Amino acid sequence: MKNPATKTVRRRSELQHLAIAGAFALLIWFVWQFWQDEPPVVAMQRSLKQVRMQWVCINDHEFEALGLYGSRACMICSAESYALAEYVCPDHGEHAVRFVYEQGEQGQPIIGRAAFDDGEWKIHPEHIVCPSCGKPMHTKPTNLFKRKKQTDESSNDD
Ligand SMILES: [Zn+2]
Ligand SMILES: [Zn+2]
Repeated sequence: MKNPATKTVRRRSELQHLAIAGAFALLIWFVWQFWQDEPPVVAMQRSLKQVRMQWVCINDHEFEALGLYGSRACMICSAESYALAEYVCPDHGEHAVRFVYEQGEQGQPIIGRAAFDDGEWKIHPEHIVCPSCGKPMHTKPTNLFKRKKQTDESSNDD
């Protein structure tokens, strides 16, 4: 009568595998949530002035430059320019957002104001929300530095 015992052991190890898989999935979910909830641009531990980011001026010139509190002068026409990031709504896709950093109470960079391409400025937005459904959107961290490349590629296609 060894069979039932073996079966139990086997079942137990199956359950263990399941538990490990479950725990792993949970871990991934937590990491994902954490990553999602953290505005990557703001969360950088390095000083804002050490981080290269995308900028856009009021005349729509895009360029890459180091981070800065407030706006900076456009490299091409010297007009006022703002930091630029792509935000994503899972249902309604990507939106380009212009924003300006301010220094928070602990000296950390916070978004002082933000606006969609032709929208009004929102002052100290806690979340940048989708204009279609009002859900909080999240930045595409890797896209911040790829945007120029993508523009180049799409212009090559033309
Ligand atoms: Zn310009
Ligand atoms: Zn949406």
